[in-house]
Amino acid sequence: MVRIVHFREKCIGCNACVELAPDRWKMSRKDGKSILVDADERNGIYTALVGDDELKKNLTAARTCPTNIIKVEKVQRKS
Ligand code: SF4
Repeated sequence: MVRIVHFREKCIGCNACVELAPDRWKMSRKDGKSILVDADERNGIYTALVGDDELKKNLTAARTCPTNIIKVEKVQRKS
């Protein structure tokens, strides 16, 4: 599995993650920041566990994010 973490507070709403991984990211109409789809929130930090098939696109998004607030890492599947 793949864990994606979004430190949303510092998002500047540039839309890059939405363009690069549209299945996992969308823009908020409320505050103009991006939303990590199906994420759990804790202290303003959003985390989603997704399938390996989403690794490549989200790694690209993480590398492209101008504020460097997306983290993507492979994790072991919970048993
Ligand atoms: S690429 Fe980064 S700064 Fe741009 S919308 Fe996505 S999370 Fe926000």
